[in-house]
This record gives sequence, structure tokens and C-alpha cells, in this order.
Amino acid sequence: MSLIVQKFGGSSVADADGVRRVARRVAETRNAGNQVVVVVSAMGDTTDDLLDLANEVARKPPARELDMLLTSGERISMALLAMAISDLGVPAQSFTGSQAGMITDGAHGAAKLVEVSPLRVREALDNDNVAIIAGFQGMNRSSKDITTLGRGGSDTTAVALAAALDADVCEIYSDVDGVYSADPRIVPSARKLDRVSSEEMLELAANGAKILHLRCVEYARRFNVPLHVRSSFTHNEGTWVIPSPDEILTPQKEIPLEQPLIAGIAHDRSQAKITIVGAPDHPGIASRIFRLLADSEVYVDMIVQNVSTGEHPLTDVSFTLDESQGALAMNLLRAAEEKIGYTRLDYNSEVGKLSLVGAGMKTNTGVAFQFFQALADANINVDMISTSEVRISIVTSVDKLDEAVRAVHTAFGLDSSEEATVYGGTGR
Ligand code: ADP
Ligand code: ASP
Ligand code: MG
Repeated sequence: MSLIVQKFGGSSVADADGVRRVARRVAETRNAGNQVVVVVSAMGDTTDDLLDLANEVARKPPARELDMLLTSGERISMALLAMAISDLGVPAQSFTGSQAGMITDGAHGAAKLVEVSPLRVREALDNDNVAIIAGFQGMNRSSKDITTLGRGGSDTTAVALAAALDADVCEIYSDVDGVYSADPRIVPSARKLDRVSSEEMLELAANGAKILHLRCVEYARRFNVPLHVRSSFTHNEGTWVIPSPDEILTPQKEIPLEQPLIAGIAHDRSQAKITIVGAPDHPGIASRIFRLLADSEVYVDMIVQNVSTGEHPLTDVSFTLDESQGALAMNLLRAAEEKIGYTRLDYNSEVGKLSLVGAGMKTNTGVAFQFFQALADANINVDMISTSEVRISIVTSVDKLDEAVRAVHTAFGLDSSEEATVYGGTGR
């Protein structure tokens, strides 16, 4: 008998029909002789709708209350799914994050798991039930408050439960057939990957491919949880996230020794760029700026500083960050005008990031050349550049982003002759 953790995202349980379809899938798995733990997200765009509502009633909704509100979305779907599964003659019990022993720190909106003790989930399984857990939420022990793990966090709930229960596999069900070489909503000719290394998946997730929550990939890698990303709308084999070749201690023949050059392209529309114009060019200025931002937990992504000349050299420092932190960063910098001593601040939210990811880059020269040539041929202006061992990212104007993704996808020969199917969801 296997223990299988199945996570269903919002697009899979968007309405009553969706809930019933998922219930049938769960019952099928359980009737095949497996123990099943289900993690479920809020229905459809519920989380976004609740957030909109919060912003309508308050200018700055308190983080604790936002978590109280947002976790209600997952409570609705867990109870409905338990009802639908019971209706098929399979006993099912639902649990909130705190009932399932998902203990977190106190960071509302971005809580980290500190302990996972799914005692009641074990008990439910021992009593032949399917256990259904509300994704994305936990509880902080000292405050006794409910927390959320950050947007897309149900994936992390699923992997954390799979690790704690020593599950045989964690299946992430979504509205596409797996992880593709680019977002199939932007690139219909994107190719489904049969496997992707955790190293590449981490880079894709960190740079905007929202098919998997970044922390779920980190967690699965750390605890060796086999991760299978697939569609809840078909029975097609999806994408397996496998350990990177250099993490494999014993040779496993099913893992290819040579990896393809490029795994895929991620894009991120939610970026903003801030430029500090005319700051004095002397030691300590950059540290002052970024210390100020770090102290308020602003996450800075790319940084570029221009060259300055003259007797009293001035410099321009540009950096990108998530749009949601733009106003906070601007307020912090405005308040520190005298301390930093700049001429002007510029803010641009009309930028996006494109990242080309591939473990093969480590050992291949010429990838950067081919990448920039593809962008030049498509007449895409590059604003900023950053690289890692397995990734090249650029920032460009957001209205050119989709075109840039498609151009790079084609230039690296990633186009498939089959069109990718997106089965549901609104892409919000
Ligand atoms: P869920 O509701 O199941 O959690 P999400 O909306 O969070 O689903 O993630 C699935 C979506 O991720 C897909 O519909 C697709 O548009 C998007 N996506 C972005 N990049 C990729 C990629 N490389 N492969 C597959 N899907 C991707
Ligand atoms: N419902 C949450 C969100 O929309 C969590 C999730 O879907 O994983 O972000
Ligand atoms: Mg998701």
C-alpha cells in the first residue's frame, strides 16, 4: 500500500463540477488500494477576490486580519471536497492547517514552517479515512494566531506533509499537463518536460514560473520527496522533479548523465524598477541604501550602478524589486533623502523580467551570445542583466515581455509541433 499526497490547486476546484471531478480522482486513487492525503487550495480566484475585498474596506488591512480572511478560502474547499468524497462512499475528514499540525513562525503573509506534526492526519489514515488538509495555512504557537505561507503556498503544505508522513510521492495537480519550457499561456508551442532537475526548477520557480511554489521545490529537494506535477483534467503523465546530477550520490540509471542545454524560460510581470539618480559616488553609499531596504524586509533583485566621472562624481543606482514592495521602498528612500544625498528618485512599474534557465549552461559557451542575439533580432531593448551558473535574466519593458519570451523560446529550438493545452484557470 502506498501513501500518496495529492495537491489540487484553485483552478482544479473552481466550481462544484470541479470539486466533484477532484473527488472522483481521489476516490479512484484510494480505491486502487492507496492511502490518500489531499491538500486543497481555495476555489478559483477566491484568494484574489478576498484580497480585493480587503483593499476595498481598508487602506492598509492589518496582516493578522488578512490571514484570517484569506485562510477562509481553503476552509471552504476542504469541507466541500470532504463532502463530495464522502458522497462517493469513501470516508473523508477535513482539517485546517493548525489541526493538521502545520506550525509556523509569526510572519503573517509569508510564514515559514517550523514544525510539521500531522498527528490527526495519521489518525484519520489509520481509521481508513482520506485526510483533506487546507493548504497555504498554519498556526503560530506563541501568538496562537493563524498564518499564511505566501501566495501559491499550498504546494509547500503538500510537500511538507509528504515529508512528515514519509509519503511515496507528492502529486501536484494543476490546470496544465506539467512543467513546460515556458508558460503555455504565453507560448502555445511550449514543450512539456518529462523531467526537470530540482536545480533548474528552483531557478524557474524563483523567477516567476508559478506552476510550483519556490519553497515547495526547496523543501522537496531537502527532504527527498518525489514530486510529480500533472493535470487534474487528464490522466497524462506529468513532469517529475528529480535531484540534480551532482546531488545524486548513487548512480541511478534512469537519470540522464547529460542534461539538455536549456530547461526553459520563466517570466515575471510583477517587477518594478527604482533608480536613485545623482547619489554621491563614494564608499558606503550602496551599503547605506541597501541596509535601509533590508531593515524593512524589502527584497531587492537586480542591481546596476552606472559609471561616473568628474571632480565630484555622482552615480545612478538602479534596482528591481517586486511591485508589491514598490511603495514601501520609495517611502523609505524619500525619508532618507538627506542621509543618502541624491538628486532624484525614479519609479517604473512597467518592467518585466525574462530568465533563461538551463543546467547545461555551466559547460557550454555561447549561450549568452545566442540569447542576446535573439533579443536583438526581435528588437527587444535590454534594461538590466543578471546571471547565475544556470540562468541569464534580463529586465525589459513589460509590454515587450511576451514577445521576448516567444523569440528566445524559438531561438533556442524549444518550440514543439504540438500545441500545449491549458485546461482551466484564468491565469490570474
Ligand atoms: P494552481 O491553481 O493549480 O495552483 P497556478 O495558477 O498556481 O495553478 O499555476 C499553474 C499555472 O502556471 C499554469 O496555468 C500556467 O499558466 C503557469 N505557468 C507558468 N510557467 C509555467 C511553466 N513553465 N509550465 C507550466 N505552467 C506554467
Ligand atoms: N489560495 C492561495 C493562493 O491563491 C494558495 C494557493 O493557491 O496555493 O495563493
Ligand atoms: Mg499554485
